[in-house]
Amino acid sequence: MSLLITNVGSLVTNDPSHGTGPLGLLADAAVVVEGERIAWVGPAASAPAADERFDAAGRALLPGFVDSHAHLVFAGDRTAEFNARMSGQAYTAGGIRTTVAATRAATDAELDANVLRFVTEALRQGTTTVECKSGYGLTVEDEARALRIAAAHTPETTYLGAHVVAPEFADDPAGYVDLVTGAMLDACAPHARWVDVFCERGAFDGDQARAVLTAGAKRGLLPRVHANQLSYGPGVQLAVELGAASADHCTHLTDEDVAALAGSDTVATLLPGAEFSTRAAYPDARRLLDAGATVALSTDCNPGSSFTTSMAFCLAVAVREMGMTPDEAVHAATAGGARALRRTDVGTLAPGARADLLLLDAPSHVHLAYRPGVPLTAAVWRAGVRAV
Ligand SMILES: [Zn+2]
Repeated sequence: MSLLITNVGSLVTNDPSHGTGPLGLLADAAVVVEGERIAWVGPAASAPAADERFDAAGRALLPGFVDSHAHLVFAGDRTAEFNARMSGQAYTAGGIRTTVAATRAATDAELDANVLRFVTEALRQGTTTVECKSGYGLTVEDEARALRIAAAHTPETTYLGAHVVAPEFADDPAGYVDLVTGAMLDACAPHARWVDVFCERGAFDGDQARAVLTAGAKRGLLPRVHANQLSYGPGVQLAVELGAASADHCTHLTDEDVAALAGSDTVATLLPGAEFSTRAAYPDARRLLDAGATVALSTDCNPGSSFTTSMAFCLAVAVREMGMTPDEAVHAATAGGARALRRTDVGTLAPGARADLLLLDAPSHVHLAYRPGVPLTAAVWRAGVRAV
């Protein structure tokens, strides 16, 4: 079955060979979908015939968002903590333990229903690929359970046993690292594609983070790092040194950190929802882009520090507060996220790519930043299937 989406006012392909600029923009365009894949993109006037036809009515079509950083396996919420923070209290990594207690107490069915709820919520807003981390179990059984549940919803699963030191190991962080790199890793590796660590004061230092990432890599897990969120630190340099796909947060960077990212394949994934929800200073996307680093935007969806599934919200904040142009922000939320997941089949709309499409109720992708907070999703296709 083939589908022609025609009368597209503005098409973002993210493939410069198909249009103008880094977004590969094409006006008066059409797309042909065959099964799960894009078969053709080009001017509407020269589009081939297809079994079915969808009239985009002059609206903008872009690749579905790629949210490369989310923590969706959890129970409970932290409304009170957010409320206190907005009344002046500071954010610390320790709040994670509140969610750990609620998550451990939840049933498999409750956790699965929560993941489904957030994946569906994200899909309605145009997110067609989402990464999902463990990290609220912090026991061998609870971390493996989180990854099993996440793997039912996305192939992009990340083992984050090293989110914070489990409460049982408060006096023995070295013992906890041994667990994370030993029995917990053994139980989790079959269900995960990635290994991650929260490299931060109050969580894990550089040596501990290196031990976690190296152990994961030995089991075939690819590294990514929560780096330089709350303070300067070794996370970014470690990510680059170990060839991590992504260094996430990148809020406090030295010139050396920026240069290391720019000279590497490690994507700088910025998570403005976290700074928004903790009332902290935003990362400087302009500095990273000007240095030549690849930037991704993601939600960091989690109940403590960024409880949003909205890529459009993050994109609008990045434009308003982080020095990104609307084009750069759209690229970062699609192609950038794909790079951060080392995926070539999503984040672009070129022949052969997976047919993940977001049709906006707007004539241009710029409206994602221009009309903040407005639901602009007109239609979503995931792997060629109309999902919204
Ligand atoms: Zn995170």
